[in-house]
Amino acid sequence: MDLKSVIRDIPDFPKKGILFKDITPLLQSPQAFTAAIDKLADYYKNSHVDLVFGAEARGFIIGGALAYRLEAGFIPARKPGKLPYLTEAATYDLEYGQDSLEVHRDAICPSQHVLIVDDVLATGGTAKAKAELVEKLGGEIVGLAFLVELSFLKGRQKLSPYPVFSLVKYQS
Ligand code: AMP
Repeated sequence: MDLKSVIRDIPDFPKKGILFKDITPLLQSPQAFTAAIDKLADYYKNSHVDLVFGAEARGFIIGGALAYRLEAGFIPARKPGKLPYLTEAATYDLEYGQDSLEVHRDAICPSQHVLIVDDVLATGGTAKAKAELVEKLGGEIVGLAFLVELSFLKGRQKLSPYPVFSLVKYQS
C-alpha cells in the first residue's frame, strides 16, 4: 500500500508558505487506514505500551485506533480549558504559531509506558511538549510515532534522544 498516494498536498494552508499534508484521504480509505494503523501496531507490538497519548484532533483518530490494536489505554492532550479535571500544561511553537496543550494530572501512573502519536511530525514542537507532559507525570516514553515526517524540518533532532518512528517521510 503506497500511503503517499492518499496524502494530499494543500499549498498555502492554513497560511501562505505552508504546504499542508492532508491525511483525510488516507483516513477515508479503509485499506489505507487499516494498513497505516497495522504497520504502527506491528512496530510497537513488543514494546509493552500501557498508554497511547495523542492530541486533538488528528492525534485522537490515530491514537484511538492504535491504542485499541495495542490493547493499551488512550489519554488525550487537549487545548487549554477543555479538560474538566486538574491539569498539567506545556507550551510549544508551531510551524505556524504558538499554542499550549494540557493533560489530566492523573492520566499517567509513574513508570507506565507511554507511546506519543500524531499525524505529522513537522518542527517537533508539539511532540516535544507532549514528551514534557509525560515526563512531568512520571511516565516512561516508549517512543513517538507519526504517519508523516517532514524530514527537512528536522523535528527528529528536536526530539532526541527519544526514539521516533514514522511511516512516510518527505525530504522537501
Ligand atoms: P510541529 O509541532 O511543528 O511538529 O507540528 C506538528 C503539528 O502541526 C501536528 O499536529 C500536525 O498536525 C500539524 N502540522 C504542522 N505542519 C503541518 C503540515 N505541513 N501539514 C500538516 N500538518 C501539519
